[in-house]
Amino acid sequence: MKLKSVNPYTEEVNWTYDSFSFEECEAYIKKSRAAFSMWSSLSVDERTKYLARVAEVLRKNSDIYAEIITKEMGKPIKQSRAEVQKCAFICDYYIKNATEFLKDEFVDTGAEKSYVTFEPLGIILGIMPWNFPFWQVFKFAIPTICAGNVCVLKHASNVPRSALEVERVFLEAGFPENVFKTLLIDPKITMEIIKKDMVDGVSLTGSVSAGSEIGELAGKAIKPFVLELGGSDPFIVLEDADIERAAQAAAKSRFLNTGQGCIAAKRFIVLENVIEDFMKAFELEINKLKIGDPMDEETDIGPVAKEEFVGSLEKIVQDAKKKGAEPRACGKECEKGFFFRPTLIPAASADMEVCNIEVFGPIAPVITVKDEDEAVKIANSTEFGLGAEVWSGNLERAEKLAKRIRSGFVAINGMVRSDPRLPFGGIKKSGIGRELSHYGLKEFVNIKAVVVN
Ligand code: NDP
Repeated sequence: MKLKSVNPYTEEVNWTYDSFSFEECEAYIKKSRAAFSMWSSLSVDERTKYLARVAEVLRKNSDIYAEIITKEMGKPIKQSRAEVQKCAFICDYYIKNATEFLKDEFVDTGAEKSYVTFEPLGIILGIMPWNFPFWQVFKFAIPTICAGNVCVLKHASNVPRSALEVERVFLEAGFPENVFKTLLIDPKITMEIIKKDMVDGVSLTGSVSAGSEIGELAGKAIKPFVLELGGSDPFIVLEDADIERAAQAAAKSRFLNTGQGCIAAKRFIVLENVIEDFMKAFELEINKLKIGDPMDEETDIGPVAKEEFVGSLEKIVQDAKKKGAEPRACGKECEKGFFFRPTLIPAASADMEVCNIEVFGPIAPVITVKDEDEAVKIANSTEFGLGAEVWSGNLERAEKLAKRIRSGFVAINGMVRSDPRLPFGGIKKSGIGRELSHYGLKEFVNIKAVVVN
């Protein structure tokens, strides 16, 4: 089978690669097993020395990697560059903190000595999406590797060059071979690998349906798994909010990466007495966004990553129209490329698809509510629980409201961003487990108790 990388702006094929057979995967995974034996015997300090070189390589080659990201999935180039820089930052973070996080924890049990020690599990399979082709992989791999595991990657089939390039980052940084290995494979072989007990844990970032399939298989094989799935994050604007700042953040949060982010604000829930001011300010911000060639430094909105997304986004807008909304497309039309114009849906209602499913593209529904209680009710009314934003001039009020929102992250007067210093993940259909911080570092370790009597 061939994996094809298509440029969503030019619609031309960038690169094609032969995918790996199951037998080739078996051979590579055998090598990963040998690499684990060596890698897990190193101290955390020794492992983090390698990370320093990874950060160096990322910073040195950031323009090269950014161009590959943009060519493969259409992200505006300045955002691709920022993505690569963030990958270097996660290395810095674990270099500084991993030793402390992974040190033995002594507990007084009355025995001579009792402690908890954190040991790696083995080979961890990362199944990753195309929306942040570098960041999603580093967010999974750096803590996993730091803890002494080795990683194999099954990346999304539309970003094979990024997948190979990430492996090269580790090799160029001097990592021993097969501590990080990319397997160019389809979902079928990936599932065989889990079923046949070839790996010791799985981490998936992607859609709910992929998460559900992988969770079932990993559960059957009794393997630990982390699922980082979709979201339909509410963005609540109370009447005492700074409307101008809220509108700026709303546009940024919804349209970054052309709306293709799990933690993008996806439903704007605004109190009725400020709805007019918010709509005006929000539309102004949306109209400032430059749509076009993602390689252009000025571009804010590029094409969506796959051709079929244009049709699915159009269907979502049509559904809202049928149910009484009057969507407004903003910005210019582009002649070539998989473009979808940023679309504002005022007076959206809970029965519309746009307010229920995960909308992965530049569509912004705005729901008007009469008070805070209604805002919370609507915020919690989807199957997701990833992130949420609350805007208010009264921080005490905002924090109280934050407690009532069922999600893994709440940002008050700001936007939700993944940050290595904070745990990242969701509840309900948004996933299981956490990435990043010390919580993420300990997802794939054996938390072993040792008691000396
Ligand atoms: P998928 O969830 O299908 O893909 C994500 C990753 O999972 C890819 O590597 C994919 O491989 C792999 N995958 C999918 N199904 C299986 C399976 N059964 N076994 C093994 N691997 C599997 O997302 P899509 O790219 O199809 O996007 C569809 C929707 O998913 C988006 O519109 C969005 O709503 C959501 N999504 C959410 C993301 C997030 O960050 N939470 C990221 C990406 C998508 P392959 O590419 O080969 O199919």
